[in-house]
Amino acid sequence: KTILCVVGTRPEAIKMAPVIERLKGEQWANVRVLATAQHRHLLDQVNQFFGIEPDIDLNIMQPNQSLTTLTARLLLNLDEIFQAEKPDAVLVQGDTTTVMTVALACFYHKIPVGHVEAGLRTWDMQNPFPEEANRVIAGNLAKWHFAPTEGSRQNLLREGIPDDEITVTGNTVIDALLMATQKELTLGVEIDPGKRLILVTSHRRENFGAPFRNICQALQILAKNNPNVQFLYPVHPNPNIKNVAYEYLGGLSNFLLCEPLDYAPFIAAMKRAYLILTDSGGVQEEAPALGKPVLVLRDETERPEAVEQGVVKLVGSNCRNIVEYTQRLLNDSAAYRQMARGISPYGDGRASERIVQTLHDHFKQCA
Ligand code: UDP
Repeated sequence: KTILCVVGTRPEAIKMAPVIERLKGEQWANVRVLATAQHRHLLDQVNQFFGIEPDIDLNIMQPNQSLTTLTARLLLNLDEIFQAEKPDAVLVQGDTTTVMTVALACFYHKIPVGHVEAGLRTWDMQNPFPEEANRVIAGNLAKWHFAPTEGSRQNLLREGIPDDEITVTGNTVIDALLMATQKELTLGVEIDPGKRLILVTSHRRENFGAPFRNICQALQILAKNNPNVQFLYPVHPNPNIKNVAYEYLGGLSNFLLCEPLDYAPFIAAMKRAYLILTDSGGVQEEAPALGKPVLVLRDETERPEAVEQGVVKLVGSNCRNIVEYTQRLLNDSAAYRQMARGISPYGDGRASERIVQTLHDHFKQCA
């Protein structure tokens, strides 16, 4: 059976890598990898790390691409690919434009789609924009829903998805993390061993504009008030982020701004960190498994499990809140320990095994 695995951005490549690796070990599966390359460079370094070479590469990325143009260009390419590849199933991961568009094209071609990381919801179609709509659309069109948690399964049931189409698998991000931590990881950035490290990432579209300025202002205050703490922020290349980050944080001696880190160095940075400030989805999932407290620079999250367990806290983009909560975790060791317990609500490292088993069972039944 030909299984076409699609990746468009860095987090998709990270979370699809364990599925691709496991499928490649299956005799019944002819695995093909399609890179839409919605984000070019960030995607390539992940594929290199996991030893994945895309069979088809659309190289779709253009400077300042709008979401509509991206969608249209992707759709135009997919007819030909499906005709040439004739996949028996297509796997997509997450909530990007690639995921939504590929799911739609599969629907038109009557090709069954498996949605990896299904059922994440904020229940607000506009927020996060555009991710919530992307995953709702993909979820409505998918045949197999690989839900990372029981909560995401419940979300799908609430939307009327039949129970027998849902498998609770855990999130493949933990499979990837375990694969990575078996290798030797080096950060590659000099951090004073005597200083605590606060790792920052922020580039979510919903924070562009005023919220991101507030975040940068809070970071500036924190860096000035805590000269003995080192800050590290791998900055996303999007000009909405990069220009503002350098404007507010560029000149501070204890604030290191760098290019996005490759996956392995980034994991090393998370392991080295005392605390992580982020609006990333994947980092919210990885950090608890590494025992690192996370302050989420958003007002809501589609990943409530770690928040409920008290190891991740939503602080929003309000400058005062960010400063106050970060300062508390720097000063109050009991509060810090409570959040640094090291639990993994998003998976046990066997998600890809369960996904592949579900596909195997399906095709065996059909044979
Ligand atoms: N990541 C990385 N380098 C960085 C920042 C993040 O490799 O400089 C990894 C991180 O480990 C996580 C993923 O990228 O697995 C998160 O990607 P991102 O925040 O772009 O997207 P999201 O998770 O919000 O969809």
